[in-house]
Amino acid sequence: MEFATWMYPWDFLEEGPDRIAEHLTTAGIDEINLATNYHTVQAFTPHNPNRRTFFAQASSYFYPDDQYGRLEPVPYFEMEDDWVDTIAGELPAPLSLNSWTVGCHNSRLGMAHRDVTIENAHGDDLVFGLCPSNPAVRLYLTNIVRDLAFRDHFDRIELETFDYFYGTGFGWHHQKIHVQLGALGEFLFGLCFCDECRVRAQEFDIDVEDVRRTVAETIDDVVAGRVSHETSPESWLNEHRDVAAYADVRTQTLEELFAELAVAAGDTELGYYAGMPTPGREWMVGADLSKLATHIDYYCVPAYESSREAVLDAYRTVEAEVDVPVHVGILPAHPAVHDGETVEAIVDGLRRNGVPRVSFYNYGLLPERSLDWIASAIRS
Ligand SMILES: [Zn+2]
Repeated sequence: MEFATWMYPWDFLEEGPDRIAEHLTTAGIDEINLATNYHTVQAFTPHNPNRRTFFAQASSYFYPDDQYGRLEPVPYFEMEDDWVDTIAGELPAPLSLNSWTVGCHNSRLGMAHRDVTIENAHGDDLVFGLCPSNPAVRLYLTNIVRDLAFRDHFDRIELETFDYFYGTGFGWHHQKIHVQLGALGEFLFGLCFCDECRVRAQEFDIDVEDVRRTVAETIDDVVAGRVSHETSPESWLNEHRDVAAYADVRTQTLEELFAELAVAAGDTELGYYAGMPTPGREWMVGADLSKLATHIDYYCVPAYESSREAVLDAYRTVEAEVDVPVHVGILPAHPAVHDGETVEAIVDGLRRNGVPRVSFYNYGLLPERSLDWIASAIRS
């Protein structure tokens, strides 16, 4: 079984390669999933020598090459050199590097280029999510993978939100939502009706305006309580086949995108973070896992659950759908887990189920005691 940890570049650079190597090799971890292109964040950093918190807008931690189109990553404003190259250069053996790569979730690019964002049924631009139906967005995504693969630093490139962003998002600053949307309302709220999504659906003879009206009215019905917020999206779609067909068009678009990503990655292994918004409901972000498996080497399921059984359930749900290896991510800290025994039980369960690789979330965010729990769990 292999072990990795997600890591922010500032934690690597500020702690330095020696301390990182000591922490990780003591714990039994030999891979770093390094954030290379990332969304806006405030990180609380319990053991960083220089700070207790770090803020960044959506940024890349490398300088993009000159082959991008209209959309390109915006390097972090305080970088004095290319952090990805620096870290790759300083990486102590036996550690190896993977790219943790955020795709469509990018509020900075979304605010600057509102025409390429998801546009919901009420006509709002959801600026936190770029729409993969848009050719400029697909070019941006494939360029990121090509650019990173070309650097030769990474054994794996892992893809986060290379899909249709779900619902009301991960949480905007001071997000104010005082209605209960539930899974159905969230899904419908985030369903995209941008020009590119409309054109693609029309090719399948779908009456797009009729679908849009149904979606907009149903969101308002959920808000008003005329449709229960507990309605299962699957059963609702069974009764609204036109909306289901509209949503299905997205899966074909993602298949085309992933075929392009596979070419862009070349020999570098490609992984996709499955399980969003919940394991088994990846269709909500337009992902058909069995079909996308043709174009990637493995899935990773971030299962930030509180018990061995819940983590295993998340893993088994995805594993049953696909014929490529399924890796698992776990969070050995608040709010998921509060003791070392649980971390041990989870890792033991994954080992017994033949999971090839576990990634821990996230080195710089974990208090020291969580790093101790990881070390004990890996040793036992
Ligand atoms: Zn769209």
